[in-house]
Amino acid sequence: MSKPFPKVGVIGAGQLARMMVAPATALGVDLLLFAQDANDSGAQVASHVVGDYTNLAQVMNFAQQCDVVTFEHELVPLSIIRGLEAAGVKVYPPSHAFIFSQDKAEMRKKLNKFPAPEFQIISEPSSITKFPVIAKAISGGYDGRGVWKVRTTQELQEILKTCSPLLIEELVEFDCEIAVMVARSPHGQATSWAPVETVQQDGICILTITPAQKISSSVAERAQQMALEIAQEVGVVGVMAVEMFVKGENIYVNELAMRPHNSGHWSIEGAETSQFEQHLRAILDLPLGSPAMNHAYAVMGNILGGEKTDMYRPYLHLMARNPSLHFHQYKKDVRPGRKIGHVTACGNDLLHLLHEVEHARDYMSGVIDE
Ligand code: ADP
Repeated sequence: MSKPFPKVGVIGAGQLARMMVAPATALGVDLLLFAQDANDSGAQVASHVVGDYTNLAQVMNFAQQCDVVTFEHELVPLSIIRGLEAAGVKVYPPSHAFIFSQDKAEMRKKLNKFPAPEFQIISEPSSITKFPVIAKAISGGYDGRGVWKVRTTQELQEILKTCSPLLIEELVEFDCEIAVMVARSPHGQATSWAPVETVQQDGICILTITPAQKISSSVAERAQQMALEIAQEVGVVGVMAVEMFVKGENIYVNELAMRPHNSGHWSIEGAETSQFEQHLRAILDLPLGSPAMNHAYAVMGNILGGEKTDMYRPYLHLMARNPSLHFHQYKKDVRPGRKIGHVTACGNDLLHLLHEVEHARDYMSGVIDE
């Protein structure tokens, strides 16, 4: 192992691992990815091994080449993380924290002192008498898959046939959804970025606005405070997104994601320290960087796959039109509705930023052609 600069192992090699490469390179930290396929988004640009993340022997062999191991998706089985820990591998976030981002029922129970939608865990449709409700797969869901708005007992019965038990939540008629990103290091230093408004369409985040505009300063302050308290409570190490709903002055904790998150992508250009650099600093137990914004606003739009397959040619038009836009390509196969990149704009004029990001996003996706 090349001391003094450590080698960080990342299980998973999607776009989150890909975006960790630039700050790791800048810090002189070596990254080694554990990819599923050599063509994965991150594996295209970083040293990697290819393996099966559910196979402890393979993951262990990988971990032994690294000083610290982290992961960039929630599918790594808890047994694998525990297996690494039992062998003395430094793995962050630790299994005792990670369980709360992987298991929504455990998370709801653990965070019962924080405001949240009312919930029940059920395996019988007759347990629910009042509709509509939100039903959620307890683990394995993402981007709205595994979340259903349920209106009748029959609908609930159908879902239970393939997914049981279910987490049933009160349907919150929220004004907006926000996310607060926090970072916490093993010795407990913690910090958070400004709350972000996340705009969803069909269960997928399409746009983020930082700082969130639709919430009062009191909600913003409490949301940040709450996210820091949750980080401490669950003992996360690394970055974590706390997703929340806001209705008037009320906050409801929705869920936790213990990894760099879509709601933090704006920080690459919009903050003094990006979520990807902060994650590396946190898991290496280095002092954390400043989360301060370096512009008044940052707007990020996700590019979703559409008809267009050439993602390079649109640069000609978009870069000429606005030299201040920042583009990120994940170099994943273009499939309808799949997140294949994002675009960020930072500055003082929010309406202009929104217009430019929405235009670039829709042009890249092929929704508009000029
Ligand atoms: P995922 O793991 O797929 O991100 P979430 O738990 O975040 O699942 O739910 C996806 C979306 O469903 C949320 O962003 C929100 O729009 C909606 N949703 C989830 N829970 C509730 C709820 N209790 N009330 C109203 N809407 C909800």
